[in-house]
Amino acid sequence: MAYDPNNIFAKILRGEIPCKKVHETAHSLAFLDINPQAPTHILVIPKGAYVSYDDFAAKAGEAEIVDFIRATGHVAREAGVDASGYRLLFNHGPDSHQEVPHLHVHILAGRPLGPMLVRPKD
Ligand code: AMP
Repeated sequence: MAYDPNNIFAKILRGEIPCKKVHETAHSLAFLDINPQAPTHILVIPKGAYVSYDDFAAKAGEAEIVDFIRATGHVAREAGVDASGYRLLFNHGPDSHQEVPHLHVHILAGRPLGPMLVRPKD
């Protein structure tokens, strides 16, 4: 899948639409999810143009990968949820229901998050 430079997170990175920024590094940006699914719901994205986890894992440079992982840990710690716990969620591709085609990790926390997946109803 080719990267679409008009996706919403690319627009946030270019400053064309606002976000509630919580952290920024050389290679990564973290901001509040617009439709939070938990009391803490933060997205961390790389500044580079990567469609999804698969793209990032295959093509990103080591500095970008290290920056992204460290930024994610830093944001969770700064949000004060490292002791109570948090869930990191990457969606890649159609079966995961990935909506925005720019890699992002969800940091979800602030309440017991329940089972990892909801089972489909019979
Ligand atoms: P995913 O289904 O993994 O692609 O998740 C996309 C996430 O982006 C959803 O949780 C949305 O609520 C969130 N989102 C979409 N647009 C914005 C925006 N403008 N600012 C912040 N979060 C957004």
